[in-house]
Amino acid sequence: MPPWRRTFDLAGRDVLVTGAASGIGRAVALRVARDGARLHLTDLREEPLRAVAAEVRAAGGEVGLVRAADVSDRTAVLALGADLTAAHGPMDVVMNVAGISAWGTVRSLEHHHWRSMVDVNLMGPIHVIEALLPPMVDAGRGGALVNVSSAAGIIAMPWHAAYSASKFGLRGVSEVLRFDLAKHRIRVSLVCPGGVATPLTETVQIAGVDTTTPRFRRLLGRFRSHAVTPEQAAESIVAGVRKGRFWVYTSTDIRLLHLLQRLFPPGYRLAMTVFHRAANAALPEVERARRAEVA
Ligand code: NAP
Repeated sequence: MPPWRRTFDLAGRDVLVTGAASGIGRAVALRVARDGARLHLTDLREEPLRAVAAEVRAAGGEVGLVRAADVSDRTAVLALGADLTAAHGPMDVVMNVAGISAWGTVRSLEHHHWRSMVDVNLMGPIHVIEALLPPMVDAGRGGALVNVSSAAGIIAMPWHAAYSASKFGLRGVSEVLRFDLAKHRIRVSLVCPGGVATPLTETVQIAGVDTTTPRFRRLLGRFRSHAVTPEQAAESIVAGVRKGRFWVYTSTDIRLLHLLQRLFPPGYRLAMTVFHRAANAALPEVERARRAEVA
């Protein structure tokens, strides 16, 4: 059987998960532990991270390093990588899940929104790659790199310019590494979730859009009703990693939109035009008030 057809077994592998304290990262950690991997967990805050480590252990999983670190802080990530490798050896699987989200109209996005998206969602995974990939390559055991991008790393979602800057960037890094790392038998997976019902979707801030209006809450409710659970997303991610897939979707809508974009660009353009018009019709008050102020 050619190597790319072989299933990648997670049992006995050392797996680092960032963003492991919440949402998709937490669900992935619990799911991967069930397959018999040894988990190493990191996230921004120590307390919820320790709670997830306890959950993994309570479910019979093995946990090695548990340490809080800000992925946008290169020094902290390099130190974490060095300590992790010294204590547990090179990783077999590195999963970049940590991320934040800020959306907004171009009139309302401020510099700090653009900056934080790139610092956390793009430079964060790059710091992790800098810290963990060289020892993986040197170990010569192969492995997997999993980068969680987004539907907004494939298609033009309304109000997502800053977020998409980071997620399309991560897609670019992943597309290149997919081919660069093949000679080291390290497979790359790019996860492109659509809606996943996690705390991220509850707390989303949209610059220039009043997210407290009943109309917006209805829109968000509709989004959440289509969202998959973090556990379902984790199942898709693990299945994708095991099969060595590059594109990993967590819902059918995004898989189909991606197909439409590639196979029938005019259909994609029409779908996005309708999507943006509908979103902008629901774009209420704050942006309009601002426009009125300026006028
Ligand atoms: P989540 O529940 O908010 O989990 C993200 C985790 O990352 C949180 O624990 C968060 O910590 C942590 N984090 C934030 N900034 C960090 C930093 N600078 N350094 C280290 N950790 C940091 O969100 P999620 O929905 O599971 O998102 C996971 C990934 O999926 C993200 O990359 C997101 O962009 C992507 N995604 C999610 C959806 C969705 O619908 N949920 C859709 C597409 C893509 P705090 O809670 O302390 O901030």
